[in-house]
Amino acid sequence: MKVFDLHADIGYDILEQLEKGNNEPLKTRHLKKLAKGEVRGVAAASYFVGTEDWLRMQKMVSSTRKEIEKNKEDVSLILSVQDFHDEKQNILMSVEGMCGIKEDCSEKIDWLYENGVRLASLCWNDENALATGCKGNPLRGLSEQGKEVIKRMNELGMMIDVSHNNEKTFWDILETSSMPIVATHSNTRKLCNVDRNLTDQQIKAIGLNGGLIGLNGARNFIAFDKDNQDSFHLAMHGRHIADLIGVEHLAIGMDFMDFLGDYGDESMAIDLRNASMIQNLVESLHKVGFNEEEVEMICWKNAVNFMNKVMK
Ligand SMILES: [Zn+2]
Repeated sequence: MKVFDLHADIGYDILEQLEKGNNEPLKTRHLKKLAKGEVRGVAAASYFVGTEDWLRMQKMVSSTRKEIEKNKEDVSLILSVQDFHDEKQNILMSVEGMCGIKEDCSEKIDWLYENGVRLASLCWNDENALATGCKGNPLRGLSEQGKEVIKRMNELGMMIDVSHNNEKTFWDILETSSMPIVATHSNTRKLCNVDRNLTDQQIKAIGLNGGLIGLNGARNFIAFDKDNQDSFHLAMHGRHIADLIGVEHLAIGMDFMDFLGDYGDESMAIDLRNASMIQNLVESLHKVGFNEEEVEMICWKNAVNFMNKVMK
């Protein structure tokens, strides 16, 4: 079954590989695995941990765009939902963390948009000029600049990702944004109580907001018990979310790390080590009681509907 994966740090990998002298990073490291797993759509994130400046952000985003365009025979860049192509690998450009933006916020958001970015989070785990991540000060949320960024993203139809936010930032964004939001790669604290996962209260708020939650395949966000760090227990998080707010708010954002040097495939669920294995999750979604139509919604349709709702 075809899958849209809402989060993979492919933008980060592209620039890192280009800098190491690999001139075909997308083709040699990603396209085959994605095709094998039937991951027909993916959000390729330019990922920033909090120390990078605006120039570095621009460089990663530009490199990702160029790499996509270089492969345009096989890849379609999603700038609007009209760009989906049945025969090609569909790629949406995203940004994870905007630590490089400290002033001239609206202009910089415009630059990201003009260069293809359609989905972004204000921070990673860090605390930056715009917002506060889950490892930052719990009492600090969105800054005034952060509010400006949210408003500009709303005007442009750029999707807002809240996955790494601390709780205060999450609630500030919900109050500020006029458009639905997405947690692209977060599970539930009910089944695995870590700060990267969502409380039931947050999940309910995303439901009321018309938002979306993508299931994350990183093993430490699925379960504490190593034997339970698999696609079945990940699907149980999906079951919990759908039971709380409805299956139409559920999607997939695996955060595959097999290609990231510091992490590797051992950071992932036992049977979800890289994109080629994603059909194991499709099977597990059936096992926890979702019917064929619901699994299609989770894997593909809900993500595309959300894009349709937010993107211009
Ligand atoms: Zn992340």
